[in-house]
Amino acid sequence: MEKERVNQLYQQYPLLKEMASLKCVLWLNQYEKEHELVEAFTFDKVLEAEQRLKRFSSYLKVAFPETENCDGIIESEIKDISSLRHWMQHIGDVNIQGKLLLKCDHALPISGSIKARGGIYEVLKFAEHLALEHQLIRLEDNYSIFHSESFRKFFNQYKIAVGSTGNLGLSIGMIGAKLGFQVTVHMSADAKEWKKQLLRHKGVEVIEYASDYSKAVEEGRKQAELDPKCHFIDDENSQDLFSGYAVAALRLQKQLKDANIIIDANHPLFVYLPCGVGGGPGGVAYGLKQLYGEHVHIFFGEPLQSPCMLIGMMTGLHDNISVVDIGLNNKTEADGLAVGRASKFVGKIMEPIISGCYTVDDTFLFESLRALNGIEQIFAEPSAHAGVYGPISLFKRGQQYLNRYQLLNKMEQATHLIWSTGGNMVPMDQRQQYLQKI
Ligand SMILES: *Cc1c(COP(=O)(O)O)cnc(C)c1O
Repeated sequence: MEKERVNQLYQQYPLLKEMASLKCVLWLNQYEKEHELVEAFTFDKVLEAEQRLKRFSSYLKVAFPETENCDGIIESEIKDISSLRHWMQHIGDVNIQGKLLLKCDHALPISGSIKARGGIYEVLKFAEHLALEHQLIRLEDNYSIFHSESFRKFFNQYKIAVGSTGNLGLSIGMIGAKLGFQVTVHMSADAKEWKKQLLRHKGVEVIEYASDYSKAVEEGRKQAELDPKCHFIDDENSQDLFSGYAVAALRLQKQLKDANIIIDANHPLFVYLPCGVGGGPGGVAYGLKQLYGEHVHIFFGEPLQSPCMLIGMMTGLHDNISVVDIGLNNKTEADGLAVGRASKFVGKIMEPIISGCYTVDDTFLFESLRALNGIEQIFAEPSAHAGVYGPISLFKRGQQYLNRYQLLNKMEQATHLIWSTGGNMVPMDQRQQYLQKI
């Protein structure tokens, strides 16, 4: 971006200056203002995804026995974490009212991160499409047949490619290789060594790049285009990924109901989601807004050096602005969030949906990692802890928001849901390193 244009943006959006000087900020969206209707995506796709995942539950149960006790449905629990309130209030120097819940996607079966929702869904959809097209299966059949030598041989003629900072590649690789596909994962420089090793061990081809996420995606896309038998999973634009992520909302609604947690005009729900390119948190946000409307308030959390969704949405430039343009370096220990340019597809859909975005510094992520591990014996990776900062950011910097929507006197009855996005696959020695990091 030209220097003159950047200067204009600084004039127009004073928050950018604070971000460039690495202050934690909260940006509030004017989400009730008129937005162009995005017709590209409809809720039917989410309901369709839910049904498709049900069809595949008999396959998942046999292919991944750890999903047997959840009936082949990849889901995580919600957990009361009021035990963390004292620590959060202390470290944030704020008073936090309302219930504190954790959505435990760090413990999702198969690949241990939120990517197990979207990533696995898109591969299953592709597999179903091929099987139907070649009349290997009918919709009403028992899908456990996907776990057979003949199906694996059939799928082995096809390829799947994806660009990733780590976890998406891990999810796609695990399910893709299990079904028999030839999988290639294009990994950005942020990807952790153990993720690459694990994938190679599963027979997945891993191509490493010295540059960041956007480059890895671009290369993956380019190489896949040359091959008609290759399906490219496009983290920046995929509606299938997005639909898979959004199914979480339907499941959460039931979980909250079962836990007798009311969400209505007097009992607002606040949800805090770590954001990278935007697909994961975007899908969840889309689903929740459909279900809860004005009673849900959704915030995305991003690292100080990688606030791509914040700057993309605030300026309306979406993928036409990079964090590098405002002098940031996109370097963060939160590898899942190390994205410099947000998805335009997601950003546009989020315009009338999310309440805002906040930034959080890496030091907090590690302090939170230790606190959650110490107090609740829950291990979540650094990226996941961007969610924990959400309530702190809201109570510290969001008075204007709470005022605007007359929420101040309802906060005792509010529920804060912190979306924990990854962790279970992290090897023990890496966990120790994280826990000891200063
Ligand atoms: C990918 C990821 C996210 C963010 O998802 P996006 O779709 O990239 O926005 C958050 N947390 C973890 C652990 C992730 O791997």
